[in-house]
Amino acid sequence: MPQARPVAQRRLHLAPPFLLDDYTPRYLRLSSRDAARKRSLAHAHLRNCKLCPRQCGVNRHETTGMCLIGDKAKVNVIAPHFGEEPCIQGHNGSGAVFMSGCNLRCIFCQNYDISHQRNGMDLTPEELGEWFLKLQEVGNVHNINVVTPEHVAPQVALGVLHAAQLGLRVPIIYNTSSYDSLASLELMDGLVDIYLADFKVWESSTSKRLLKADDYAATAKESIKAMHQQVGDLCFTGDGIAKAGLLIRHLVMPGKEAEGAEIMKFLASEVSTDCFVNIMDQYHPDAHVGKKRRRRRASVSEEERKNPNLPEEGDGEVRYADLNRAVTSREVSLVREAAVEAGLWRFCDPPKHDGFAI
Ligand code: SF4
Repeated sequence: MPQARPVAQRRLHLAPPFLLDDYTPRYLRLSSRDAARKRSLAHAHLRNCKLCPRQCGVNRHETTGMCLIGDKAKVNVIAPHFGEEPCIQGHNGSGAVFMSGCNLRCIFCQNYDISHQRNGMDLTPEELGEWFLKLQEVGNVHNINVVTPEHVAPQVALGVLHAAQLGLRVPIIYNTSSYDSLASLELMDGLVDIYLADFKVWESSTSKRLLKADDYAATAKESIKAMHQQVGDLCFTGDGIAKAGLLIRHLVMPGKEAEGAEIMKFLASEVSTDCFVNIMDQYHPDAHVGKKRRRRRASVSEEERKNPNLPEEGDGEVRYADLNRAVTSREVSLVREAAVEAGLWRFCDPPKHDGFAI
């Protein structure tokens, strides 16, 4: 008897629904009427700013709200960036535009010098759009990646519309902490191709203490659902570069693995089991974490001051001591196991074949 021939198996590593033949950014598909509507909506937000849950209601042309940024975006760094997920940075880099300022006050901020110090140059929306074009033309980047855009969404929207007229044709990434208002995400609908969204912590007591926003998780849940409704699950073209969809980042925090597990359950049950997730292990103490607790002058009496052994100001215990360490591999594994158990399967893992980690 002749032996049965083995059946050839295709190993695409991609479910076909997530593979695109080609991609045209959403802002190039807007009608001129919709583009005009976006422009007027962006200006309206600047006149009465309720872009994020802080709901300051200020006229950004005249003053600033809690984010401390007015009507011009303050930009810290503009450059091709190679610190993103392989499917975002590709071979040529992601066109990163790091915005200064933030509407959160994370005490562990991993971008502290940019987000909390407000260094950088002020750019009009038109100048911002011209930089987007330079990144495409000179940097040959795969996308424009606006980092921490929540408090400058109108400026970004106007910049994208201006750049589209100048010849921009790469996807726009909205790289957010997910502390956006639904009105702000409505403005970005049709302009953003990829939402690269953090989901940081789950408990409101934790977000109150560490992010200075007790409504963070409630806001992030609604924001992420709205983002997914706009762009769906993450899709790639055949070169392994992500072109559209939602990519969730979760930075595992020391001792907070149970909150990470809740976030994974939420993503699987209320967003999509096909959600592409990057569970990150690179947390390091930064910003206020691990800094010496300052001794209050008022608490030191005149008599105490005469004591030569009185500790200098700044001596004493460190702040946020519970977060003053790296995460353990066990903590990271627990979040990953919870994600798999919840039904998630698309993770940002190192490639198991010769291509990108898609
Ligand atoms: S973006 Fe800034 S001004 Fe506007 S509501 Fe948020 S914190 Fe306030």
